[in-house]
Amino acid sequence: MPPAPTVVRTLPSLRRALERLRARRATVALVPTMGALHEGHLALVRQAKKRASRVIVSIFVNPTQFAPHEDFGSYPRTWKADLAKLAEAKADLIWRPDVSTMYPRDFATRISTEGPAMADLEDRFRPHFFSGVTTVVGKLFIQCRPDIALFGQKDYQQLKVVTRMAADLDLGVKIIGVPIVRERDGLAMSSRNVYLSNEQRARAPALYRTLKDAAGRLRNGDHLEAVMSDGARTIEDAGFSLDYFEARHAETLSPAGSLKDGPVRLLVAAKIGDTRLIDNLGV
Ligand code: AMP
Repeated sequence: MPPAPTVVRTLPSLRRALERLRARRATVALVPTMGALHEGHLALVRQAKKRASRVIVSIFVNPTQFAPHEDFGSYPRTWKADLAKLAEAKADLIWRPDVSTMYPRDFATRISTEGPAMADLEDRFRPHFFSGVTTVVGKLFIQCRPDIALFGQKDYQQLKVVTRMAADLDLGVKIIGVPIVRERDGLAMSSRNVYLSNEQRARAPALYRTLKDAAGRLRNGDHLEAVMSDGARTIEDAGFSLDYFEARHAETLSPAGSLKDGPVRLLVAAKIGDTRLIDNLGV
């Protein structure tokens, strides 16, 4: 059995653990998560192990990034399985604060970002989301002072928002984006996939299939507007209620009119039943 990672739950114990971790000038990576770990999260940990000598994984289901009608209460919490997976992946330290440690009574500060956080994608449908993410990620960076931090391309807009914030606030952390890990049938791995019924699960790969078909057609020179409206129809025909299916500049997230506008990323968000799924693909 691999040695269990050190688990810390309070700020003083985090500080002591970091002092030990930083001995002998170790480089430190942070992988922020909300737990319910799957292969997508573990790919971040593996990438972190390659790039740094010590790896911290934070597990915190962050209430401020959920709206009242969203799934904070029912979000999957699988601590024992998470710990076993992180031991197997040889993480060094798990930072698992509770809500009152992260947000003591009278907590009254928010980090608010513009630019990619106002791209009219996730922000249009989850207006509370990015200030919740930037506030908690900002706190995690200040608490852990990592040299690098790894985020999945699965949450593509979030990756751009966090990269912008880290640069703007001189947080001294390099942000690394890691490619999306998928199930065999193409569905992007997500902690929320457990919400899907068998029937919904069978329909869910339509998102990735549509992204792939659309990217192929665009590369073949098909007209972007036609490709995007066909893709939107395919997703709805598969039983999804579509929030957006958009072609954006891969770096600025500004709307793309054609492949000539620079590297293009296709991004989708859609609900199947009560479960909202997101995915994206570079063209
Ligand atoms: P979460 O626990 O859902 O907040 O995700 C924590 C981190 O894991 C984020 O940086 C996500 O983008 C990343 N992540 C989640 N799912 C995947 C996936 N399928 N492939 C790669 N990274 C992922």
